[in-house]
Amino acid sequence: MEISLRNQVAVVTGASSGIGSGIAKSLASAGATIIVNHSSERSTDEAKAVLKEITDAGGTGITYQCDVSKEDQVVKMFQDVVSQFGTVDILINNAGVQKDSKFTEMTLDQWNTVIGINLTGQFLCAREAIKEFLRRGIDTSRSVACGKIIHISSVHEIIPWAGHANYASSKGAIRMLMQTLAQEYGADKIRVNSICPGAIQTPINKDAWSTPEALDSLLKLIPYNRIGQPQDIGNLAAFIASDLADYITGTSIFVDGGMTTFESFSTGG
Ligand code: NAD
Repeated sequence: MEISLRNQVAVVTGASSGIGSGIAKSLASAGATIIVNHSSERSTDEAKAVLKEITDAGGTGITYQCDVSKEDQVVKMFQDVVSQFGTVDILINNAGVQKDSKFTEMTLDQWNTVIGINLTGQFLCAREAIKEFLRRGIDTSRSVACGKIIHISSVHEIIPWAGHANYASSKGAIRMLMQTLAQEYGADKIRVNSICPGAIQTPINKDAWSTPEALDSLLKLIPYNRIGQPQDIGNLAAFIASDLADYITGTSIFVDGGMTTFESFSTGG
């Protein structure tokens, strides 16, 4: 059994670091051409480094700067990718940020920034991707599906998170966005799913793993007793994007070392 994404083009948002870079490399190793999206000038070198790893390993792709919370930039990114590569087959809606605050002190700017990138960004990219999937139609030389979208959500799609109301709200909403799109476009053979990571070792949660004390306290939440790696998410993303997963749509898959079994109840609660 082989996971193949040959002849397919994948847009991976926020691919210049962390989980996005892991997914980009996994999809590339399965044969997809990767659009390594990054948000700003500052992340250009990181995006180029991810692309270099991909091309050094025999893969193909480009870097593309675009702030996913900006409609004009997202529309242009999809137009440019289609004009350069012919179409888009896979969207990995990964870009995300945290702006943490006690709720009563949370500013509207902190709220809007997180919702704007984590939720509106996923809406804008999904909308442009689906328009392109429908324009192209099914091409079985690429995939039996018309297109695939994978939202990167979080265990906080279902676990409330004090001090992170904006982030948890964005992830809870992604579940409804994902399921609604899967329902609305199922008959068009567009598959839409979410991956919900637990604690993955990336810059977004550095405070939770960068000291032995922090890591020890984090591991108390994880029955499998290790922190996750971007590759853990990349492995699943490549599978879900492939035709091996053709009957999987409208679902959230948790990759969390058992975090959502609520470890604190292991001794009786
Ligand atoms: P990260 O900080 O390494 O990566 C986030 C990426 O998003 C970066 O490449 C950043 O440049 C990009 N980004 C931010 N704003 C953007 C914008 N406006 N436009 C385009 N790109 C933008 O963190 P990560 O852990 O790799 O996070 C990736 C996704 O995984 C996020 O959606 C996050 O919520 C989710 N997630 C992470 C964890 C974890 O434990 N690391 C757990 C659950 C969910």
